Amino acid sequence: MGIDHRIHLCLAKMSDTGAEQRYIQEAFASNWIAPLGPNVDAFEKELERFLNTSVISTGADRRSGEISDNKVYVAAVSSCTAAIHLSLLLLGVGKDDEVICQSFSFCASSNPVTYCGATPIFVDSEEDTWNMSPELLEEAIKDRIAQTGRKPKAIIVVDLYGMPAKWDEITAISQKYAIPVIEDAANALGSYYKGKPCGTFGNIATLSFNGNKIITTSGGGAILCKDEATKKRAIFLATQAKEPYLHYEHETIGYNYRMSNISAGIGRGQMTVLEDHIKHHQHVHELYSSLMNNPSVSIVSINPNLDFNSNFWLTTALFNDGVDIETLCKKLDAAGIEARPLWKPMHLQPVYKHAPAFTNGFSEYLFKHGICLPSGPWVTDEDVKYIVEKIKSTIID
Ligand SMILES: *Cc1c(COP(=O)(O)O)cnc(C)c1O
Repeated sequence: MGIDHRIHLCLAKMSDTGAEQRYIQEAFASNWIAPLGPNVDAFEKELERFLNTSVISTGADRRSGEISDNKVYVAAVSSCTAAIHLSLLLLGVGKDDEVICQSFSFCASSNPVTYCGATPIFVDSEEDTWNMSPELLEEAIKDRIAQTGRKPKAIIVVDLYGMPAKWDEITAISQKYAIPVIEDAANALGSYYKGKPCGTFGNIATLSFNGNKIITTSGGGAILCKDEATKKRAIFLATQAKEPYLHYEHETIGYNYRMSNISAGIGRGQMTVLEDHIKHHQHVHELYSSLMNNPSVSIVSINPNLDFNSNFWLTTALFNDGVDIETLCKKLDAAGIEARPLWKPMHLQPVYKHAPAFTNGFSEYLFKHGICLPSGPWVTDEDVKYIVEKIKSTIID
């Protein structure tokens, strides 16, 4: 069970070898208690190695170690939210621009658009991956061009719950209209689309190392860039945009978004358990799938096709019409199980009620019928059996 008697969705878990504490200890011993420093550089290198050399040839778990042709350069920052903000700035998004965003996601995927003074244009999801619908994306682009005479400046697509988006279709549309894509891979470190790692599909991509993600730095994120110059520019903007003079000279507005050397020490330790965590999330998902044989519930694998190899960061369940999601979550909560409704689509959020939206009703359906289940590294087989039994007995009541 976890460090208390509740079963959480996904709680941080440090390695059994104490690697995180050793890297922090090194930082203390050398007095690198600052942003920048050897742990930050090393963490970036280790992420680059993972993303640039792990591909799946066929089927799950067969990593061949070949070099991926989707090479990325990693800059570690203070959060994924900051990484998305910087990505928008790197793509030149500014006041009065429009940015197309996946509606079915956490607010952090689209809020940075507002930070830039730009307007999010929300696009609904398709049924296979629950990520941005390529058809609606193209409709949105055409409509915005017709309405405003200008193209949207960028597209933010999410690999939600770890499931890769339909990257071939989305990339084709992005290239057809020459609009760059930001891939929010906050949930998808260790997921693969057609054998290539998530985080390498957007023109720029982001990761999260928040406490509830597949690995953590306690809080942190990363920008994945396609060339070294963009990585350097990202670091420049993340460290207050200091021009190369002895005194402080500023030609650009910068931000204080760099990852600290202490956080990166935790990240380095977590890299030693990344593969274990991925396997564990996938194992938990399989166990839920095999145990939950009930006509009112489906454990969602979406497209079990090998092209969509999810890390299953969170396992999700969909319920038939008769099941009230809120009551179910409350009952599970009373049984010591943390379960939550799926994301409420951004186009239904009060704060975005004036934002244009291209919808098909699907994300709204998901919100009303689905929940996330405990899936993190503390969740045991016994926990999964207990949760499945509780769900079954609750929906029969
Ligand atoms: C967690 C999350 C984020 C934000 O990550 P932070 O590191 O907490 O800023 C962004 N997008 C998605 C899809 C997330 O789940």
